[in-house]
Amino acid sequence: MRNFSHLNLEDSATVSINSRILEMNERGERIFNLSAGEPTLPTHSLIAEAVQRAIASGKTGYPPVAGIPALRAAAAEWINRWYESSYTADETLVVPGGKFGIFAACQALLERGDEVVILSPYWVSYPSIVKLFGGVPVVVETKESQGWQTNIEAIQSALTERTKMIILNSGVNPTGAVYERSFLEAVLILASERGIIIVSDEVYSGLTYEGEYVSCGSFPEYRESVIVINSCSKNFAMTGWRVGFVFAPEVLITVLTKLQGQSTSGASTISQYAALGALQHAREVNVSVLSEMKKRRDVFVEGLRELLPSAHILTPQSGLYSFVPLTAFGNETSSVRFCEKLLADARIASVPGIAFGKEGYVRFAFGEKEEELRGALHAFEKVKK
Ligand code: PLP
Repeated sequence: MRNFSHLNLEDSATVSINSRILEMNERGERIFNLSAGEPTLPTHSLIAEAVQRAIASGKTGYPPVAGIPALRAAAAEWINRWYESSYTADETLVVPGGKFGIFAACQALLERGDEVVILSPYWVSYPSIVKLFGGVPVVVETKESQGWQTNIEAIQSALTERTKMIILNSGVNPTGAVYERSFLEAVLILASERGIIIVSDEVYSGLTYEGEYVSCGSFPEYRESVIVINSCSKNFAMTGWRVGFVFAPEVLITVLTKLQGQSTSGASTISQYAALGALQHAREVNVSVLSEMKKRRDVFVEGLRELLPSAHILTPQSGLYSFVPLTAFGNETSSVRFCEKLLADARIASVPGIAFGKEGYVRFAFGEKEEELRGALHAFEKVKK
């Protein structure tokens, strides 16, 4: 067998944990799955109807590589209306999930040795994707005591002449932090002065429970430095449909379209019609997901607080996760050991903080049905101190 070490290939921690849980469930073992980042809801009926109409009219051939024109136009109109940006359909690429959008942007832009600034705790895939293309992740830490926010000075001090890109993820997975306009603007000014590209991963934008969501696409003066990634997965509870979007200057969209043409050939046609259905009823579909996820967040976070009254547990402002210090549960300091014990003793699946670059924490996803969350909260009794 050949050696593949040159690929710098790493397993996605969250995807592999979730696959293990699904296997355990298949074997009939009862597991409370708080590991997967999914808003667990059936596909909205308005989306299902759009798909049925598309199938009935035979729309199942290859899609145009950049996406069906109606979807590119609807996606641009959606982001412009919701987040005050000004993208055209030609500045919009349909991809099979936001993750592929980030992957393709890194493939197109990174050269060996390029540094990429990432804020920790970070979504597990950023460092892995960056390394896949020879890039070097440079991590800027954020702290719970500061609401998982940072300041422009911390970003500035991480920059060198080799910095090519900064990845921002407002609506942070795993902390739920949402960045303010003034911070984003300061990063954009810095990036445009230094010729650095901002990849702004905004896939949780529509799951913001409190406060305003500001998109990096809403600053026309810096649009040349910005690539916005968004997706139907979380905003419209469509994880398995695999449709995401890249919004960027047209020259870059042309390059990414070529990359897509030599790799995936685009997102599945039928999924694109599902996404079009979602965007044509965006408010209605999103409100149903948002209100349900807010309810689940409150059930879970309040339940944890009741269970662990002396622990300090933040209410996440967005997303699908509660990122909790291990000190809430006792003396264990290794997040991997803690998650293994939680799985063995309480049958609860979670993700160790170390996978997000932050030891001493654990991530619980609250996108599961309420009864599942209540069952897990009950099972926690077995491990509390
Ligand atoms: N970005 C972040 C921060 C995520 O948490 C995820 C999925 O969990 C993605 C991107 C990928 O989303 P998609 O399903 O659109 O590929």
